[in-house]
Amino acid sequence: MRAQLGELETALVDLAHSIASDTGVSSIEGLPPLVDSDKAWAALESSGLLTLRADGGTVLDLVLCAEQFASTLSATPFLGASLARELVGTSDDRIVVSLDGMSAPDALGATSIAFVRAGHAHVTGVEGELPTADRSRVSIRASASDVTSLATVDEQTFLAIAKLLLSADLVGNGIAALTDAVAYANERQQFGVPIGSFQALQHLLADAWVAVIAARNAVRSAAWRVEHNASGAKASAARAATVAAEAGITACEVATQALGGIGHTWEHLMSVRLRRALVNRSLLPATAPELLRAPIATTPTGSAEPDGFDLRDDHIEASVRARLRSWLATKPSTENWHAQLAAAGFVGVSMPVDAGGAGLPVTCEAIVSEELGDGDFPPPPAIAHLAHAIAEFGTLEQREVHLAHMLDGSARWCQGFSEPGAGSDLASLRTRAIAEGDDYVINGRKIWTSEAAQAEWILLLCRTGDHPHRGLSVLLFPLATPGVEVSTIVTAWGSDEFAEVSFQDVRVPRSALLGVEGQGWEIAMSLLAIERGPADIGWISRFRRTAHALLTTPESFGRDDVQRAAAWIEALDATVAVTLTQRRNGTFDPSTGSIDKLLMTKVDQLLHTAALQSAPNALATQTSQELERYLWARAASVFGGTSQIQRNIVAQRVLGLPRP
Ligand SMILES: Cc1cc2nc3c(=O)[nH]c(=O)nc-3n(C[C@H](O)[C@H](O)[C@H](O)COP(=O)(O)OP(=O)(O)OC[C@H]3O[C@@H](n4cnc5c(N)ncnc54)[C@H](O)[C@@H]3O)c2cc1C
Repeated sequence: MRAQLGELETALVDLAHSIASDTGVSSIEGLPPLVDSDKAWAALESSGLLTLRADGGTVLDLVLCAEQFASTLSATPFLGASLARELVGTSDDRIVVSLDGMSAPDALGATSIAFVRAGHAHVTGVEGELPTADRSRVSIRASASDVTSLATVDEQTFLAIAKLLLSADLVGNGIAALTDAVAYANERQQFGVPIGSFQALQHLLADAWVAVIAARNAVRSAAWRVEHNASGAKASAARAATVAAEAGITACEVATQALGGIGHTWEHLMSVRLRRALVNRSLLPATAPELLRAPIATTPTGSAEPDGFDLRDDHIEASVRARLRSWLATKPSTENWHAQLAAAGFVGVSMPVDAGGAGLPVTCEAIVSEELGDGDFPPPPAIAHLAHAIAEFGTLEQREVHLAHMLDGSARWCQGFSEPGAGSDLASLRTRAIAEGDDYVINGRKIWTSEAAQAEWILLLCRTGDHPHRGLSVLLFPLATPGVEVSTIVTAWGSDEFAEVSFQDVRVPRSALLGVEGQGWEIAMSLLAIERGPADIGWISRFRRTAHALLTTPESFGRDDVQRAAAWIEALDATVAVTLTQRRNGTFDPSTGSIDKLLMTKVDQLLHTAALQSAPNALATQTSQELERYLWARAASVFGGTSQIQRNIVAQRVLGLPRP
């Protein structure tokens, strides 16, 4: 799986961007009716973009170009002309599409109109311009007479492509709106500081950014699926459109808010962007009822090509999947699951070989999660973040001693970071380890330590110096060490999964130090970046299973909240695919792990709120599964760093807004 643009796709984006920039607008003076339509069509024709598909281009290529034309608010009718060619093939005419057979919404300088009716393409003439709320594009009326009927077309595939191009327009427009708003927020001063340093604004922009990036990924993935006729591709296109409409409009609304009064003027292009987004949403074709019940997309069958965006397994991934499937076909007992899975070779598959793993690409971790989820087996153990920290920062001896047992399940671990007085402000933690001879002596308290009551070992973040960050270190030692006390805390959903752990004159050897003294903050951040990524820990397959149950139940599949949750699961999946690809090829920026964490939290909460509301008797007992999963989902915006902290990271490190 490679959710990343290849060389040809990147070159196409550059080409489309340069044409879109030439014909795009930077002020309202550049809007229709002042646009030179001859120049716009000449640019489309000479660049080869109009014959993209006839020349072997893909639906993903169309989507990538549409993003660019929207980002520059171009009136050049790339979308209208490309969709028309889906119906009529290559044509020398200035022909654009109508989705309702009456009006063509992206039609600057067009001389004829194509539309589909009853499975046939038709062509007709232009009867004149139509009024539209969209100030950036030209809309025209189709002639009711003089209609020529052409060949049959696959109407559902055409509608899926239409949805994807409108969605790409929403995404490109939304990303540009937020980019402009962020630039403004960095410059505009109020109360003596840039407005972008206000947390309220940072969080609005961060949430909108996460949504629109997820939408972009969903649209690109769905476009690839439609091109390859993957199972459920049309449902993926419909779900991508749901996400793109929500994210694309919110992006423009939030960007408008960030601009204050100026964004609400006729002269400012932000109001033009908002109008374009609203019109795009209104144009989205309705989704056929059978697509609403379709299962959430999984990895498509077939083998990945050597270059370019491709969601199929490559040969390494395919062999892991095949081996796992044949093992699962033996119906292994789920008792002592971690040990069983490890013995079969499916724990730590992406860990380096010299750290006890299989040395496979990180995408194989996602395959293990996906297959287990689809087969209704328990998820893999959530140890990747701890194991990677020891593999990356540990000595040879620490790797040998700890990793084998961590991976095979014979030693369970917990993570001691949070303290009663230090949660979000982790660097203020006070549990202290003082070097004495060959030992460290530890005193202090940790809280909310997951699985501490079941674990044998702890990875402890503690203070060895006074500097908030450089004074932190990590120690690895058994919880059975004298002076350690574990007191279980019952969660809101009635489980004993976390605990308070206290340390009184706990003596551990200096060899328990992970990395070097003072490296604790670096280790903690590296560990959290993986913990925040939902890929390794089987979330998506579990979400998919819950969604599947809702989508196949007649009472719930038609609910808006269920449909919305299903759509966002596919967007999360598409985003995690991008992250896994970046982790695999070494281009992953840990700050973007916060995007995945926020998205995972959103999906968890949307899905389990919908599941709770769809279950008639869920509140008639103390411990229904739906209530338990709902309450657990509420904790998703707290564990691993709260959503507010993730928004701070996205705003400041991804968007580049100033620190408050
Ligand atoms: C189910 C679960 C499992 C957990 N497992 C572990 C574990 O295994 N190991 C471990 O070490 N910890 C664990 N935690 C603890 C978790 O990491 C902390 O709860 C979390 O970091 C928040 O800290 P806090 O509870 O002290 O809340 P606080 O930091 O006090 O936050 C309270 C509220 O204030 C907000 N807030 C705080 N600072 C800011 C800011 N700068 N800007 C905006 N808002 C802010 C927060 O977002 C939150 O809404 C777990 C928590 C849960 C719920």
